[in-house]
Order: sequence, then C-alpha cells, then structure tokens
Amino acid sequence: MRPFVYRRATDARAAVAALEEQPNAMYLGGGTNLVDLMRLGVASPEALVDVTRIAPDTVEETPDGGLLIGAGVRNSDLAAHPTVRRRYPMLAEAVLSGASGQIRNMATVGGNLLQRTRCSYFQDVSKPCNKRRPGSGCPAVEGDHRNLAIIGHSPACVATHPSDMAVALAALGAGVRVEGRRGAHRVAMPGLHRLPGDEPDRDTVLDPGDLITAVELPALPAAARSRYRKVRDRASFAFAVVSVAAALEVADGTVRDCRIAFGGIAHVPWRAELAEEALRGAPATAAEFARAADTELARARPLRENGFKVPLARNVLVRTLTELVETP
Ligand SMILES: Cc1cc2nc3c(=O)[nH]c(=O)nc-3n(C[C@H](O)[C@H](O)[C@H](O)COP(=O)(O)OP(=O)(O)OC[C@H]3O[C@@H](n4cnc5c(N)ncnc54)[C@H](O)[C@@H]3O)c2cc1C
Ligand code: SF4
Repeated sequence: MRPFVYRRATDARAAVAALEEQPNAMYLGGGTNLVDLMRLGVASPEALVDVTRIAPDTVEETPDGGLLIGAGVRNSDLAAHPTVRRRYPMLAEAVLSGASGQIRNMATVGGNLLQRTRCSYFQDVSKPCNKRRPGSGCPAVEGDHRNLAIIGHSPACVATHPSDMAVALAALGAGVRVEGRRGAHRVAMPGLHRLPGDEPDRDTVLDPGDLITAVELPALPAAARSRYRKVRDRASFAFAVVSVAAALEVADGTVRDCRIAFGGIAHVPWRAELAEEALRGAPATAAEFARAADTELARARPLRENGFKVPLARNVLVRTLTELVETP
C-alpha cells in the first residue's frame, strides 16, 4: 500500500473543499471496500478524507411520511432500525443479507452505495480491465463471467453492481442527497448508478468530489409488504448471483401497486419497470408473475456461461411475489 495522508472533515462543505484542493483524494466511510482496494493496488489515493463524523448518522421521519437516512448510518444500525424493519422490510433484509456482522458494523450507507464491482479482473492489477484502466480491454467478455451481467452490459464491460442495499433502494425509488462543487442536489434511484456503455470506469452519475450526505425514502404504503430474496453460492458472506427486491399491494386478488428490482444481473441495480407495468391491475397469480418476469427478462443477453441467470431471476421473482401474496 502506498503512503497516504489521513484527514478528518469537520462538515460537508469542508469535505468537498478538501477534495477540490487535492484531486487525488477520496472520501473514507467505514473503509471496508476502499481499504481493500488500496491494499490490492486498485485504488491509490494520496489522501483519505474521513467523512464518518460529518455525515449524519441518524434515521429520521420526514414531514411527508418518508424517512431520511444519514449517509453515515452504519449498515447494522440501518437494518436494526424499528421503522425501517416495519415499513420497509425489504431494505432491512437486503442490508442483513450482505457481508458479515463485523463489516456491517463498520460500513456506512454512503460507502455501501459507492462500493465497486467484485469482478475478479477489476481486482487484479496484473490483468487488463476497462473499468480500472480505460481502453485496456475486458477479459471477462470471453473469460470468467459466470457471475457477471446478463442485461444492460456493453462490449466494454460486463460487470455487475455488488450492493444488496442499493437494489432495495432502487425498488423503493429512493433519493440520494449530494453535496458537491455545484452545491446541494438530489439524484433519484434508480439513476445514481449507470450502465457501462463505453465508459465503464464511471460507475455513477456523480461528479468527482461529490459527497453523499443522506438517502430519502418516500412514504410508500406498498413497501410494508416487501421482501428481499438473495441467491448466492454460499449461505453467507457471498455476493448475489441473483437477487430480487419486491413490494406488492394486492386488493381483491388484483395487484394495485408493486415495486421490483433485481440485483446480480446488471451494472446497476436493475429496476424492473416492464414487469411492474405488466403486473399493475393484473390478477395476483403465479402465472401473471411469470408473465411479468418474462416481459422484463426478454431484454436479457446472457454471456456464454451465465445463461442460467435468466430462469433463475424469473423463478426468484415468481417465488418472492407468491410469498408476498401468501403472507398474511
Ligand atoms: C468480505 C466482504 C463481503 C461482502 N459482502 C457483501 C454483500 O454480500 N453484499 C453487499 O452489498 N456488500 C458486501 N460487501 C461490501 C460492503 O457492503 C461494503 O464494503 C461497504 O458497504 C462499503 O461501505 P464503507 O462505508 O466501508 O465504504 P468505504 O470502503 O469507506 O468507501 C467505499 C467507496 O465509497 C466512497 N464513499 C464513502 N462514503 C462516501 C460518501 N458519504 N460520499 C461519497 N463517497 C463516499 C469512498 O470514497 C469509496 O470510493 C462485502 C465486503 C466484504 C469485505
Ligand atoms: S467486466 Fe468490467 S470490471 Fe470486469 S474486466 Fe471487464 S471491464 Fe473490467
């Protein structure tokens, strides 16, 4: 690991100013992703600006009935928060499905959203990788891509986004509050993360030096009946092969409202808008759930070794929605 300077920011503006002064500096949340990448030589910032003391670490109810989650809230605290568990269970389940208790105790909401892909070539500096070194190539297209994207990828990059929490936030339509060079602004989810196109080195729409200060959850009655289901290669401590965040509101056997996002299949948390559209007003049956899943996944373009993810994603969605209907 190369030597670096450690600084602790006193407030958001000071943090943004610190990164303006020193362009090769990075924000430090819990460090559970960034420090690993520094050890691997993937990231080599000259300075780390610790933002854990300035980003609010509270979860507050907002006047419009939503929730405001500070970027500094630790993943464990978010998952354990009684209002989150009661009104947005998919979010608590998504966070709890990730990493380990020790890592969740350190990891922050801001850092979780901006964690980097787990593509093995990205983490190995001896290999080419367009995301790490633009223009160097993407060995995953022909190489090891079993766990990579089936939808929305490009010839330049077939990586998947790793965060479970972000999948739930995309399904819920969260808003991300940002402080940056152009002042305070808000980025809607989905929309924070971007598809790779021909610039896979850019994971998000954020500008350099943008600081995430909070995440807004809308008041969403359908979210009270929601679930996060994750399929992985090991029972714990593993990233999603495929995951689904789903919320469902049913009246008289008909779907009134639904929110669906997939994880593990794309460079972004994949909001399944076509499936949602197909389901609103339809009978809440397994056959309709399967039809909606097929509508969404018709756009999938699996790679040589990950075609299994298409039926897997379909079955996980059907199972998750069916469970939501059957839950009293
Ligand atoms: C062994 C292991 C298993 C894991 N398994 C899973 C899993 O199954 N599912 C899952 O979702 N995650 C998993 N993770 C990843 C873990 O969730 C992330 O490492 C963690 O959420 C990152 O949060 P952090 O606060 O530590 O971020 P950091 O490592 O501090 O930062 C990550 C990135 O975010 C930037 N950043 C941090 N805070 C801010 C901010 N407020 N504004 C702007 N930029 C910011 C940093 O500059 C850095 O680029 C795993 C990690 C490990 C080590
Ligand atoms: S899939 Fe993306 S992250 Fe992986 S090697 Fe290709 S360019 Fe790099």
